[in-house]
Amino acid sequence: MGFCNSCGQPIIKEDYGTNKDGSLNPDYCKDCFQDGEFTEPDITLQEMIVRKTKEMMEKNPDLAETQATGITAMFIPGLKRWNPEFQDDYKTL
Ligand SMILES: [Zn+2]
Repeated sequence: MGFCNSCGQPIIKEDYGTNKDGSLNPDYCKDCFQDGEFTEPDITLQEMIVRKTKEMMEKNPDLAETQATGITAMFIPGLKRWNPEFQDDYKTL
């Protein structure tokens, strides 16, 4: 099991995104990446952090918002989608 390089959620094989040729893309989940493209190409890193913080708090009602934000704000910016080097690659595709 890995995790999605866009939203950071754990992914198992059934949750893999898909490439343009229909093959599975183990870097991203199917919520983020389908048919070789991000499902929400315009979402910003900040928006992703806010969204995932909310989801984390829904799943863990005891978790304080500051704690949840601390986790997502540390983890998500390091993912491949938000890495500047990767974004340069992505633009040239
Ligand atoms: Zn994802």
